[in-house]
Amino acid sequence: MDPLSRRSFLKAAGPAVAAPCFVPRRRRAARPAAVSSANGLVSVEIAVRKMLEGVPPVDAAVLGVEPVENDPDDMTVGYGGLPNADGIVELDSCVMDGRSGLAGAVACLRNIKNPAQVALQVMRRTDHVLMVGEGALQFARMHGFTEENLLTEKARKAWVAWRERLSDKDDWVDPEENGEFGKDFVRTTGTIHVGCVDANGDVGGCTTTSGLAFKIPGRVGDSPLIGCGNYVDNEVGVAGSTGRGEAVIVTNGGHRVVGYMADGKSPTDACLAALRDVVRFTKVQRLLRADGRPDFQVKFYAINKAGEIGSAALYPTRYARATEAGAELADAAALFEG
Ligand code: ASP
Repeated sequence: MDPLSRRSFLKAAGPAVAAPCFVPRRRRAARPAAVSSANGLVSVEIAVRKMLEGVPPVDAAVLGVEPVENDPDDMTVGYGGLPNADGIVELDSCVMDGRSGLAGAVACLRNIKNPAQVALQVMRRTDHVLMVGEGALQFARMHGFTEENLLTEKARKAWVAWRERLSDKDDWVDPEENGEFGKDFVRTTGTIHVGCVDANGDVGGCTTTSGLAFKIPGRVGDSPLIGCGNYVDNEVGVAGSTGRGEAVIVTNGGHRVVGYMADGKSPTDACLAALRDVVRFTKVQRLLRADGRPDFQVKFYAINKAGEIGSAALYPTRYARATEAGAELADAAALFEG
Protein backbone atom coordinates (compact mmCIF):
# COMPACT_ATOMS: atom_id res chain seq x y z
CA MET A 1 0.00 0.00 0.00
CA ASP A 2 1.17 3.51 -0.77
CA PRO A 3 2.38 4.84 2.60
CA LEU A 4 0.59 8.11 2.00
CA SER A 5 -2.76 6.43 1.51
CA ARG A 6 -2.76 5.52 5.19
CA ARG A 7 -2.69 9.19 6.10
CA SER A 8 -6.44 9.44 5.98
CA PHE A 9 -6.44 12.39 8.34
CA LEU A 10 -4.51 14.38 5.77
CA LYS A 11 -7.00 13.56 3.05
CA ALA A 12 -9.80 14.70 5.31
CA ALA A 13 -7.96 17.85 6.34
CA GLY A 14 -8.54 21.01 4.36
CA PRO A 15 -5.64 23.26 3.46
CA ALA A 16 -6.00 25.07 6.78
CA VAL A 17 -2.85 25.85 8.74
CA ALA A 18 -4.41 24.24 11.79
CA ALA A 19 -4.22 20.73 10.28
CA PRO A 20 -2.49 18.26 12.60
CA CYS A 21 1.28 17.97 12.36
CA PHE A 22 2.75 14.69 11.29
CA VAL A 23 6.37 13.84 11.95
CA PRO A 24 7.83 11.84 9.05
CA ARG A 25 9.74 8.67 9.81
CA ARG A 26 12.70 9.97 7.84
CA ARG A 27 14.23 13.40 7.97
CA ARG A 28 17.09 12.95 5.53
CA ALA A 29 16.79 14.15 1.95
CA ALA A 30 14.37 11.95 0.08
CA ARG A 31 12.75 12.02 -3.32
CA PRO A 32 10.09 12.71 -4.32
CA ALA A 33 9.67 15.74 -2.11
CA ALA A 34 7.47 18.83 -2.04
CA VAL A 35 7.54 22.14 -0.19
CA SER A 36 4.81 24.73 0.24
CA SER A 37 3.59 27.71 2.16
CA ALA A 38 1.75 26.73 5.35
CA ASN A 39 -1.65 26.79 3.61
CA GLY A 40 -0.41 23.91 1.43
CA LEU A 41 -0.24 20.95 3.82
CA VAL A 42 -2.79 19.11 1.72
CA SER A 43 -1.01 20.34 -1.44
CA VAL A 44 2.39 18.81 -0.64
CA GLU A 45 0.72 15.53 0.28
CA ILE A 46 -1.11 15.48 -3.07
CA ALA A 47 2.02 16.55 -5.00
CA VAL A 48 4.15 13.74 -3.56
CA ARG A 49 1.39 11.17 -4.11
CA LYS A 50 1.03 12.30 -7.73
CA MET A 51 4.81 12.14 -8.34
CA LEU A 52 4.82 8.60 -6.92
CA GLU A 53 2.18 7.80 -9.55
CA GLY A 54 4.53 9.14 -12.24
CA VAL A 55 3.03 12.61 -12.70
CA PRO A 56 5.74 15.16 -13.66
CA PRO A 57 6.72 17.62 -10.89
CA VAL A 58 5.18 20.71 -12.52
CA ASP A 59 1.83 18.94 -12.99
CA ALA A 60 2.03 17.55 -9.45
CA ALA A 61 2.50 21.09 -8.13
CA VAL A 62 -0.53 22.34 -10.07
CA LEU A 63 -2.68 19.43 -8.86
CA GLY A 64 -1.45 20.18 -5.34
CA VAL A 65 -2.59 23.80 -5.35
CA GLU A 66 -6.00 23.05 -6.88
CA PRO A 67 -7.94 22.35 -3.64
CA VAL A 68 -6.53 25.56 -2.15
CA GLU A 69 -7.59 27.54 -5.24
CA ASN A 70 -11.06 25.99 -4.88
CA ASP A 71 -11.33 26.66 -1.14
CA PRO A 72 -13.61 29.67 -0.39
CA ASP A 73 -12.12 29.94 3.09
CA ASP A 74 -8.61 30.62 1.82
CA MET A 75 -9.01 34.31 1.03
CA THR A 76 -5.56 34.62 -0.55
CA VAL A 77 -5.86 32.23 -3.49
CA GLY A 78 -8.36 31.45 -6.26
CA TYR A 79 -12.09 31.29 -5.48
CA GLY A 80 -12.89 33.45 -2.44
CA GLY A 81 -9.65 35.44 -2.77
CA LEU A 82 -9.84 39.05 -1.62
CA PRO A 83 -10.57 41.39 -4.55
CA ASN A 84 -8.79 44.46 -5.86
CA ALA A 85 -9.70 48.01 -4.83
CA ASP A 86 -12.71 47.92 -7.19
CA GLY A 87 -14.07 44.71 -5.65
CA ILE A 88 -12.96 42.48 -8.56
CA VAL A 89 -10.95 39.30 -7.93
CA GLU A 90 -7.85 39.27 -10.15
CA LEU A 91 -5.66 36.17 -9.96
CA ASP A 92 -1.95 35.65 -10.72
CA SER A 93 -0.12 32.36 -11.24
CA CYS A 94 2.91 30.81 -12.90
CA VAL A 95 4.37 27.37 -13.45
CA MET A 96 7.86 26.29 -14.46
CA ASP A 97 9.10 22.92 -15.64
CA GLY A 98 12.75 22.02 -15.14
CA ARG A 99 12.94 19.22 -17.67
CA SER A 100 11.83 21.33 -20.65
CA GLY A 101 13.04 24.67 -19.30
CA LEU A 102 9.59 26.10 -20.17
CA ALA A 103 7.29 28.30 -18.13
CA GLY A 104 3.75 29.65 -18.33
CA ALA A 105 1.98 32.41 -16.44
CA VAL A 106 -1.18 34.48 -16.19
CA ALA A 107 -1.71 37.78 -14.43
CA CYS A 108 -4.80 39.86 -13.61
CA LEU A 109 -6.96 36.90 -14.68
CA ARG A 110 -10.65 37.35 -13.80
CA ASN A 111 -13.46 34.79 -13.45
CA ILE A 112 -11.35 31.60 -13.61
CA LYS A 113 -10.76 29.96 -10.26
CA ASN A 114 -7.78 27.79 -11.24
CA PRO A 115 -5.21 30.17 -12.75
CA ALA A 116 -2.43 27.61 -12.20
CA GLN A 117 -4.16 25.29 -14.69
CA VAL A 118 -4.37 28.16 -17.18
CA ALA A 119 -0.66 28.93 -16.65
CA LEU A 120 0.10 25.27 -17.37
CA GLN A 121 -1.81 25.56 -20.66
CA VAL A 122 0.07 28.76 -21.56
CA MET A 123 3.29 26.77 -21.08
CA ARG A 124 2.07 23.73 -23.05
CA ARG A 125 -0.01 25.32 -25.83
CA THR A 126 1.69 28.62 -26.70
CA ASP A 127 5.12 29.92 -27.51
CA HIS A 128 4.68 32.59 -24.82
CA VAL A 129 5.34 32.72 -21.10
CA LEU A 130 3.05 35.41 -19.65
CA MET A 131 -0.50 36.36 -20.63
CA VAL A 132 -2.46 39.07 -18.84
CA GLY A 133 -5.96 40.41 -18.35
CA GLU A 134 -8.47 40.08 -21.18
CA GLY A 135 -6.04 38.12 -23.37
CA ALA A 136 -5.46 35.59 -20.61
CA LEU A 137 -9.23 35.27 -20.11
CA GLN A 138 -9.82 34.77 -23.86
CA PHE A 139 -7.13 32.10 -23.84
CA ALA A 140 -8.74 30.35 -20.85
CA ARG A 141 -12.16 30.44 -22.57
CA MET A 142 -10.59 28.96 -25.71
CA HIS A 143 -9.35 26.03 -23.66
CA GLY A 144 -12.71 25.37 -22.03
CA PHE A 145 -12.22 26.89 -18.60
CA THR A 146 -15.53 27.82 -17.01
CA GLU A 147 -16.12 31.42 -15.96
CA GLU A 148 -17.68 32.14 -12.61
CA ASN A 149 -17.99 34.91 -10.07
CA LEU A 150 -15.01 34.42 -7.74
CA LEU A 151 -16.16 37.00 -5.17
CA THR A 152 -17.68 35.17 -2.21
CA GLU A 153 -19.93 36.97 0.26
CA LYS A 154 -17.17 36.82 2.86
CA ALA A 155 -14.66 38.46 0.50
CA ARG A 156 -17.24 41.04 -0.67
CA LYS A 157 -17.95 42.05 2.96
CA ALA A 158 -14.22 42.33 3.66
CA TRP A 159 -13.82 44.59 0.62
CA VAL A 160 -16.76 46.81 1.67
CA ALA A 161 -15.34 47.07 5.20
CA TRP A 162 -11.94 48.05 3.78
CA ARG A 163 -13.45 50.58 1.36
CA GLU A 164 -15.61 52.23 4.00
CA ARG A 165 -12.73 52.83 6.38
CA LEU A 166 -10.12 53.78 3.80
CA SER A 167 -10.43 57.49 4.40
CA ASP A 168 -12.38 59.89 6.58
CA LYS A 169 -12.27 62.46 3.79
CA ASP A 170 -14.52 60.67 1.30
CA ASP A 171 -18.26 59.99 1.32
CA TRP A 172 -18.02 56.38 2.45
CA VAL A 173 -18.94 55.96 6.11
CA ASP A 174 -17.44 53.40 8.45
CA PRO A 175 -20.52 51.92 10.17
CA GLU A 176 -20.25 51.41 13.91
CA GLU A 177 -20.66 47.69 13.46
CA ASN A 178 -18.95 45.99 10.54
CA GLY A 179 -20.20 42.49 11.24
CA GLU A 180 -17.48 39.87 11.31
CA PHE A 181 -15.02 42.41 9.90
CA GLY A 182 -15.35 44.76 12.84
CA LYS A 183 -12.59 46.67 14.56
CA ASP A 184 -10.24 43.68 14.46
CA PHE A 185 -10.30 43.32 10.69
CA VAL A 186 -6.80 42.95 9.30
CA ARG A 187 -5.86 42.86 5.65
CA THR A 188 -5.10 39.20 4.91
CA THR A 189 -1.99 38.38 2.92
CA GLY A 190 -1.06 35.07 1.42
CA THR A 191 -0.45 32.98 -1.65
CA ILE A 192 0.47 29.36 -2.24
CA HIS A 193 3.74 28.18 -3.73
CA VAL A 194 4.42 24.46 -4.26
CA GLY A 195 7.89 23.27 -5.30
CA CYS A 196 8.45 19.64 -6.31
CA VAL A 197 11.31 17.27 -7.09
CA ASP A 198 10.55 13.76 -8.28
CA ALA A 199 12.38 10.45 -7.89
CA ASN A 200 14.51 11.21 -11.01
CA GLY A 201 15.60 14.56 -9.61
CA ASP A 202 13.47 16.51 -12.07
CA VAL A 203 12.07 19.73 -10.71
CA GLY A 204 8.90 21.83 -11.13
CA GLY A 205 7.09 24.60 -9.34
CA CYS A 206 3.87 26.56 -9.22
CA THR A 207 2.71 29.72 -7.44
CA THR A 208 -0.90 30.96 -7.40
CA THR A 209 -2.57 33.86 -5.62
CA SER A 210 -5.28 36.50 -5.54
CA GLY A 211 -2.40 38.86 -4.78
CA LEU A 212 -2.30 41.72 -2.39
CA ALA A 213 -5.77 42.34 -0.97
CA PHE A 214 -7.44 45.51 -2.33
CA LYS A 215 -4.55 46.18 -4.70
CA ILE A 216 -4.81 48.90 -7.34
CA PRO A 217 -6.56 47.25 -10.32
CA GLY A 218 -3.97 45.95 -12.74
CA ARG A 219 -1.27 45.50 -10.09
CA VAL A 220 0.81 42.37 -10.65
CA GLY A 221 2.77 40.82 -7.80
CA ASP A 222 5.70 38.43 -7.70
CA SER A 223 3.60 35.26 -7.95
CA PRO A 224 3.17 35.10 -11.77
CA LEU A 225 6.67 36.38 -12.52
CA ILE A 226 9.23 33.74 -13.41
CA GLY A 227 12.37 34.32 -11.34
CA CYS A 228 10.39 36.12 -8.64
CA GLY A 229 7.56 34.09 -7.01
CA ASN A 230 8.73 30.86 -8.64
CA TYR A 231 11.89 29.66 -10.34
CA VAL A 232 13.22 26.29 -11.44
CA ASP A 233 16.63 25.18 -12.66
CA ASN A 234 16.61 21.46 -13.31
CA GLU A 235 20.32 21.22 -12.48
CA VAL A 236 19.79 22.86 -9.10
CA GLY A 237 16.26 22.93 -7.65
CA VAL A 238 13.18 25.08 -7.22
CA ALA A 239 12.36 28.13 -5.11
CA GLY A 240 9.28 30.24 -4.55
CA SER A 241 7.97 33.00 -2.36
CA THR A 242 4.99 34.45 -0.57
CA GLY A 243 4.63 37.75 1.23
CA ARG A 244 5.31 41.28 -0.05
CA GLY A 245 5.59 40.75 -3.79
CA GLU A 246 7.18 44.11 -4.51
CA ALA A 247 10.19 43.17 -2.34
CA VAL A 248 10.54 39.84 -4.14
CA ILE A 249 10.23 41.43 -7.59
CA VAL A 250 13.00 43.98 -7.07
CA THR A 251 15.34 41.28 -5.78
CA ASN A 252 14.25 38.56 -8.27
CA GLY A 253 13.83 36.44 -5.16
CA GLY A 254 13.13 32.97 -6.59
CA HIS A 255 16.02 33.23 -9.03
CA ARG A 256 18.28 34.48 -6.27
CA VAL A 257 17.46 31.52 -3.96
CA VAL A 258 18.15 29.03 -6.76
CA GLY A 259 21.39 30.89 -7.52
CA TYR A 260 22.51 30.56 -3.92
CA MET A 261 21.71 26.82 -4.03
CA ALA A 262 23.78 26.58 -7.23
CA ASP A 263 26.65 28.13 -5.26
CA GLY A 264 26.37 25.24 -2.77
CA LYS A 265 24.14 26.62 -0.05
CA SER A 266 21.51 24.38 1.54
CA PRO A 267 17.90 25.31 0.67
CA THR A 268 17.36 27.03 4.04
CA ASP A 269 20.67 28.93 3.88
CA ALA A 270 19.89 29.97 0.31
CA CYS A 271 16.50 31.34 1.48
CA LEU A 272 18.21 33.22 4.32
CA ALA A 273 20.81 34.70 1.97
CA ALA A 274 18.05 35.95 -0.37
CA LEU A 275 16.22 37.45 2.62
CA ARG A 276 19.37 39.40 3.55
CA ASP A 277 19.24 40.82 0.03
CA VAL A 278 15.58 41.77 0.56
CA VAL A 279 16.65 43.64 3.70
CA ARG A 280 19.52 45.31 1.83
CA PHE A 281 17.12 46.54 -0.88
CA THR A 282 14.62 47.91 1.67
CA LYS A 283 15.72 51.50 2.19
CA VAL A 284 12.73 53.83 2.09
CA GLN A 285 11.35 54.91 5.44
CA ARG A 286 7.73 53.90 4.81
CA LEU A 287 8.82 50.25 4.48
CA LEU A 288 10.82 50.19 7.71
CA ARG A 289 9.80 49.65 11.32
CA ALA A 290 11.08 51.87 14.09
CA ASP A 291 13.91 49.37 14.70
CA GLY A 292 15.01 49.68 11.05
CA ARG A 293 13.79 46.24 10.03
CA PRO A 294 11.38 45.67 7.12
CA ASP A 295 7.78 46.42 8.02
CA PHE A 296 6.52 43.43 6.03
CA GLN A 297 6.93 39.70 5.69
CA VAL A 298 8.66 37.74 2.92
CA LYS A 299 8.88 33.93 2.95
CA PHE A 300 10.99 31.73 0.68
CA TYR A 301 10.60 27.99 0.08
CA ALA A 302 13.17 25.78 -1.67
CA ILE A 303 14.08 22.21 -2.56
CA ASN A 304 17.32 21.15 -4.18
CA LYS A 305 17.68 18.41 -6.76
CA ALA A 306 18.71 15.96 -4.03
CA GLY A 307 15.36 16.42 -2.29
CA GLU A 308 16.55 18.56 0.62
CA ILE A 309 13.77 20.90 1.71
CA GLY A 310 14.13 24.35 3.31
CA SER A 311 12.29 27.55 4.06
CA ALA A 312 13.07 30.86 5.70
CA ALA A 313 11.23 34.11 6.32
CA LEU A 314 12.00 37.59 7.58
CA TYR A 315 9.88 36.86 10.68
CA PRO A 316 8.87 33.53 12.30
CA THR A 317 6.34 31.46 10.40
CA ARG A 318 5.62 27.89 9.36
CA TYR A 319 5.70 26.03 6.09
CA ALA A 320 4.55 22.64 4.75
CA ARG A 321 6.74 19.85 3.43
CA ALA A 322 6.29 16.26 2.37
CA THR A 323 8.21 13.21 1.28
CA GLU A 324 7.05 9.65 0.71
CA ALA A 325 7.13 9.29 4.50
CA GLY A 326 4.40 11.88 5.04
CA ALA A 327 3.50 15.54 5.21
CA GLU A 328 3.97 17.99 8.05
CA LEU A 329 4.07 21.63 9.04
CA ALA A 330 7.46 22.85 10.27
CA ASP A 331 8.99 26.08 11.56
CA ALA A 332 10.74 28.10 8.89
CA ALA A 333 14.10 29.63 9.76
CA ALA A 334 13.63 33.31 10.60
CA LEU A 335 16.05 36.13 9.87
CA PHE A 336 14.58 38.20 12.72
CA GLU A 337 12.70 37.28 15.88
CA GLY A 338 9.09 38.44 16.02
N1 ASP B 1 3.17 37.61 -2.88
C1 ASP B 1 1.80 37.99 -3.08
C2 ASP B 1 1.75 39.22 -3.93
O1 ASP B 1 2.54 40.12 -3.69
C3 ASP B 1 1.03 38.26 -1.84
C4 ASP B 1 1.28 37.39 -0.64
O2 ASP B 1 1.91 36.33 -0.76
O3 ASP B 1 0.82 37.75 0.45
O4 ASP B 1 0.88 39.32 -4.76
